[in-house]
Amino acid sequence: MAGYDQNNVFAKILRGEIPCRKVLETEHALAFHDIAPQAPVHVLVIPKGAWLSSADFYARASDAEIAGFHRAVAQAAEQLGVVDKGYRILANHGVDAHQEVPHFHMHIFAGRDLGRMIK
Ligand code: 5GP
Repeated sequence: MAGYDQNNVFAKILRGEIPCRKVLETEHALAFHDIAPQAPVHVLVIPKGAWLSSADFYARASDAEIAGFHRAVAQAAEQLGVVDKGYRILANHGVDAHQEVPHFHMHIFAGRDLGRMIK
């Protein structure tokens, strides 16, 4: 994959240039509702750093960023009230997984029986 594109849509959301329906914001992450939800609850959690994909993030981000990001995923799920009934987290990396936005993000799907796979 090519280098990080500062003009990708999630970079613009982080800079406040594009609005989003925010769930929570922490030192390391931002969570917001997906614009085209594929489940009754469909939220994206993104790290604040300029990380292209999961491979990039997990290989090069600091331990504090990685821990902070995952804590934010858990906090978002709690805040959304989906922990008891269940939810799915998923990250797409690269072409075969149809990663559309080149800024690492985790999807949270919830609010219905999700079957064995989604997306
Ligand atoms: P991917 O296929 O890269 O894993 O998922 C990208 C997700 O970002 C898609 O589910 C898509 O609906 C969502 N998305 C794309 N553009 C925007 C946007 O401008 N705002 C929000 N909130 N979500 C977006």
